[in-house]
Amino acid sequence: MTRALFVLLPLLLFTACRLESPDDGPTTEDGPVATMLDPVEPAEAALAVIDSTTLYQHVAELSSDEYEGRGTGTPGEQKTIEYIARQMEALGLEGGLPDGSFFQPVPLRGATITDITPLTLTPADGDPVELAFVDEFIASTDLDATEASIENTELVFVGYGITNPGYSWDDYKDVDVTGKVIVSFVNDPPATEDEPTLFQADTLTYNGRWTYKYEEARRRGALGALLIHTEPTASYPFTVLSNGARGEDINLQSAPEGALPVKGWITQESAEQLAQMAGTTLNAWFEQAASRDFRPQELPVTASVAMELTTRTFEGTNVIGKLEGGAHADEAIIYTAHHDHLGKDDDLIAQGQDGIYNGAVDNASGVSMLLTIAKAFTEAERPARSVYFATLSAEESGLLGSNHYALNPVVPLARTIANVNVDSGNLAGPTEDIVGVGAERSEMLRYLRQAAEAEDMTVGMDPNPNAGSFFRSDQLAFARGGVPAVFIRTGRQFVGQPEDYAAELEAEYRANRYHQPADELSDGMPFSGLVQQTRVAFRLGYLLASSSLRPEWKPSEAFAQTRTESEQALEL
Ligand SMILES: [Zn+2]
Repeated sequence: MTRALFVLLPLLLFTACRLESPDDGPTTEDGPVATMLDPVEPAEAALAVIDSTTLYQHVAELSSDEYEGRGTGTPGEQKTIEYIARQMEALGLEGGLPDGSFFQPVPLRGATITDITPLTLTPADGDPVELAFVDEFIASTDLDATEASIENTELVFVGYGITNPGYSWDDYKDVDVTGKVIVSFVNDPPATEDEPTLFQADTLTYNGRWTYKYEEARRRGALGALLIHTEPTASYPFTVLSNGARGEDINLQSAPEGALPVKGWITQESAEQLAQMAGTTLNAWFEQAASRDFRPQELPVTASVAMELTTRTFEGTNVIGKLEGGAHADEAIIYTAHHDHLGKDDDLIAQGQDGIYNGAVDNASGVSMLLTIAKAFTEAERPARSVYFATLSAEESGLLGSNHYALNPVVPLARTIANVNVDSGNLAGPTEDIVGVGAERSEMLRYLRQAAEAEDMTVGMDPNPNAGSFFRSDQLAFARGGVPAVFIRTGRQFVGQPEDYAAELEAEYRANRYHQPADELSDGMPFSGLVQQTRVAFRLGYLLASSSLRPEWKPSEAFAQTRTESEQALEL
């Protein structure tokens, strides 16, 4: 029997093995398989180390001006990673890297467009149309290069650009887009009367996210990707994209597999023009793309654009500590929290203003949770599985530290049982519930509920699932790698407060503190809510680390297939 089967079908095979060798427990050709383990309750002494004082100290330290806003690749980050590694070492964690180091370098590249031609759409018959950069299209490149272009490249309209066997949905069918530019809608196909839960109805699935469209285009060997912006499908105006079009685009230094020389967005008006050139309308495209029978359409139109860029390279650093497990030490639970924030603004400082982005909530609070959870683990009975504690770099630049980790994991992702990510913890007081963003996508919800119940708390739902919170912090990199993940967030029901209090707090935070120098620690900020969150997050990880539980994705999740494939690949 292969270990792959054991991993995929633990209960079934456990039974089968027992029949084969009732006395000795399950075995494989390689020897005995570690026995199934029931979850262990963590000792009170371990839970007791999660207190306000400990949590406060880390937040106060990391959000102080000395850390200069923890900008990626700055002296502030250097100081940050040294502090975190020192704390981990003091707790007795080992360095998580294969050589025993705590530090995983994250090579980064910034690229800024210095010159770009219009995007020229040339129909088979008729006059070319030139789209203006920023106003009518935006573009960037995956290439690690100072020049990138496409020239008279064929366009293929691919509908929503989704392939998801869980919904028996394949927009690409058997059409080869190698060397072509795909033109795609963003978002998911709408649910129908017959299938009201198609692509989770109003909830944005990962297949709907724009980053997914690029990923699918890379997998299929396309030369470029143009996404059609409409306000309803993107949920924000084109200016949100175009405002940053001339700014620096930061990515991992190594170009992704299947790198797209040109990727970008076109406005709705430009898409209308393109549809007309192809003898149809945008509305007709929407109608066709809403069906499973949709087939990609090779358009009688080619596209050209050329850009020049200046680039620079720099480096962030992930910090990874490890607590070696017992009987299942080759399997892991990984806690994550990004330690970077927006750094400092020297212009503001020169004007005598506060120019340091202290990021007390975002995300000194999460790092503090992670370090405190690590402390609790060191006080608890050693779990069967190994536990990793990773603070990640360059989250604010586009989840780059976590993406780099997922490409270079210290434990194979197929043997990484779960990821618990904490970002922007609760510094606003105790709640009756805790939110696990994305928990409902997998069996993580069940285990989070168990952990919350042990703290007399309930699990609340993401108040705005269509905002795509699950795709906006580091858990996404793990999910994309197939690892079931949850993003722990503040509950919605504050103790002794009216129903709409959470929404008010959030609006206040967004308006006055989020990504501003004012995100700092102030007197009287309550830490009781952070204690609750940290206890639940610790219990959740301990439950999974001490047992043989193996959460699975819902089959219709985009990540489910990746999980199956990575588990199979590991056994080859
Ligand atoms: Zn954050």
